Amino acid sequence: MKNRITELFKIDLPIIQAGMIWCSGWELASAVSNAGGLGIIGAGSMYPAVLRSQISKCKKATNKPFAVNLPLLYPSIEEHVQTIIDLKVPIVFTSAGSPSKWTPLFKQHGITVVHVVSNVKFAQKSENSGVDAIVAEGFEAGGHNGREETTTICLIPLLLNNVKIPIIAAGGIGSGSAMAAAFALGAEAVQIGSLFVATPESSAHQSFKNLIVDATDGSTELSLKELTPVRLLKNKFYDDIQTAYNNKASILQLKELLGRGRAKKGMFEGDLIEGELEIGQIASSITQVKPAACIVNEIWIDFKASIKKLGSLTD
Ligand code: NDP
Repeated sequence: MKNRITELFKIDLPIIQAGMIWCSGWELASAVSNAGGLGIIGAGSMYPAVLRSQISKCKKATNKPFAVNLPLLYPSIEEHVQTIIDLKVPIVFTSAGSPSKWTPLFKQHGITVVHVVSNVKFAQKSENSGVDAIVAEGFEAGGHNGREETTTICLIPLLLNNVKIPIIAAGGIGSGSAMAAAFALGAEAVQIGSLFVATPESSAHQSFKNLIVDATDGSTELSLKELTPVRLLKNKFYDDIQTAYNNKASILQLKELLGRGRAKKGMFEGDLIEGELEIGQIASSITQVKPAACIVNEIWIDFKASIKKLGSLTD
């Protein structure tokens, strides 16, 4: 397929794997890129030396384009930015911060910049900062999420009316038919996270992958809105947050309850009781762990069949 996104990233298929802390290292990113999509290394959970080595390994594993996701609130952000520039990563997806600070520097170095947004204000800010495309991330998405709680189906048309740069739909995309729906709304690519967590190539702990397969509707909820809103799989830690809410906990008490390193504990070390388990609503449709290339192929085949089926409705 050829559109603004496939041309921008020099990829065959407009299927992008989300950059996810503790889940998307070089193995997942290179597998998705090799399958014709765009793989992304999630830098938010990597110390600078780890990111450097992950990028080098990814370059050895694929000669296709890949990207790095950089959460802008990352503590050692300057080092990550320098690594991305030094190692000539072609594309960076920035999130969780202002796109105006780093975009000009990346652009000076010929790096394509995409910013993740969940509302009109940041979409316009991204465009004004020179960002090449935006990810429109709806309420269904896993992990850190917008406060507005706008669903993907509402967000895409809203952003389409307010910016000219291409839009990548994220949140709730788990099939080619969902991808077709996103394209019908005006998106030019999809970004998929949850499905790629449940792959052999993801660095998530096997117990977390198994729990995703067991998830049903209602298994996830957007929580901790007073801190950074995050969609979590319900577990004991989630119950503890609910108890804290019932006891009218202050923001400070919520921060203390969250503590440090819970996402690592849950998603990477497999502590399903005390850990933070970030996943999207679409987890309820995931029935097995399968290779990343299989997911890319299935989504693409299903997308084409869905478009064909819809086309025949008006014959
Ligand atoms: P915490 O503060 O609870 O823990 C930080 C974790 O990140 C630790 O597990 C630590 O690993 C690891 N880490 C990697 N590099 C560094 C570094 N330079 N300094 C300190 N810690 C580092 O954060 P979370 O687990 O909640 O979030 C992890 C990351 O996710 C954040 O640093 C941020 O970049 C990102 N994030 C992204 C958001 C988004 O994209 N929207 C929103 C919120 C956070 P170790 O345990 O081995 O020390």
